[in-house]
Amino acid sequence: MRFLFISLAMLSFFFACSRNGNQSDLKIVRGFWGHLSSIEDVAPSSLFLVHVAPEQVYKICISRDFLNKYSGVEQEVEASIDIWAHYIGREIKTRTDIVDLPSPKNNETPDQLLEDYISKCPAGTDLVVAESYFNDAATGKTVSNYSYRHQDNQGRNIVESFKQALFLKKSHEGASSSDQVIWRTLASIKGQKLSRTEIFELLKARGEKVFLTGTSELLTLRTIMHEIGHVWGLCDQYALAGNRTNCDANFATLDSRGHILLNKSSTMSSQGWVSPLYLSDDDITGIQKLAKRPGFQATWGEPNLSQIDVPTTSSKAIEFSQILSVQKDESTIVVRMAVLAAPGLKMQASIHDKNSDRWINYSGSTRTALTDTRNFDYSLRYSGSTDPDKVSIKFSNGEEENLVEMSIP
Ligand SMILES: [Zn+2]
Repeated sequence: MRFLFISLAMLSFFFACSRNGNQSDLKIVRGFWGHLSSIEDVAPSSLFLVHVAPEQVYKICISRDFLNKYSGVEQEVEASIDIWAHYIGREIKTRTDIVDLPSPKNNETPDQLLEDYISKCPAGTDLVVAESYFNDAATGKTVSNYSYRHQDNQGRNIVESFKQALFLKKSHEGASSSDQVIWRTLASIKGQKLSRTEIFELLKARGEKVFLTGTSELLTLRTIMHEIGHVWGLCDQYALAGNRTNCDANFATLDSRGHILLNKSSTMSSQGWVSPLYLSDDDITGIQKLAKRPGFQATWGEPNLSQIDVPTTSSKAIEFSQILSVQKDESTIVVRMAVLAAPGLKMQASIHDKNSDRWINYSGSTRTALTDTRNFDYSLRYSGSTDPDKVSIKFSNGEEENLVEMSIP
């Protein structure tokens, strides 16, 4: 008599995450798309959106508390699925259930929440969307695990069931500003909730960016687009902890030393204060290459990419310039600004003296590199005989000019 042992394996992984902060220590040579190495570990299954077939309904389960906090996020998730699908000529049918899920407890990990939430969501849920505490610098995470008993003839695990969740970071009470995220939804930026179609059309047009000047502010839509990119099968375009990557070396672009090249402008890179409301050229190449890989067409067939309109994006020499605050002591005025501008930006400062009702001009300064910051401090010294009550900065770059002024408190 023979015993047949069947091992049931549960594998768990993070697709990793979108992170906040700048990656200035990273040497980025050129940018290119890449695919997750984990997509090679499993046979086709709807664990990855790229394998979802035309007739299949992709089931999303969203926390009601989360939606009450962040109005319109449901539509942001749906439109994010749609925009990646659009560039490969697909339309994913979805169903969204809004479910009462308990708030995360301080010590609960995303993995534990995934287990709990899946048990409370309708059977067959493909993706849970909620918030979670993280114990690292991530601002968004896609957490997954799956079970398998058998492998296919390529040694890939045949997924029998899986659990998957997309979490946005919930900040701990009293967290320092560097460990805090203040989420801004598209609805809060626009002053009204947009429909799934309206967000999709906005993303398709590729003409808009959101600039968040408040400390620790991030746009929910941008993080959701990034995480949904992982659910499709794309890897991160920034270096993970320990300088690792989750990109498959066979489906990414390598430099001459065999290192994977990363692209900072990609949606799959880390997130900052500037949020393009569109996928980058690089993201689009990545999803199109993914859909064209053998075995990745599901039943959609070969995508006809020439039919898909990709409007070109454009950048102005001065994309954004604003004075955020002015602080004054007896001899110095510190002007804090948010600026995104191409190299060659000239800044000419002036202060208005209340006593003489005259403007005092300072010699201008020119920035030779890209200026991309919401924390740019400009210090202006003044003599005791003046009483500054207004400050103005003239930004100019090539043909473009912008004059901003603020009263001094
Ligand atoms: Zn990521």
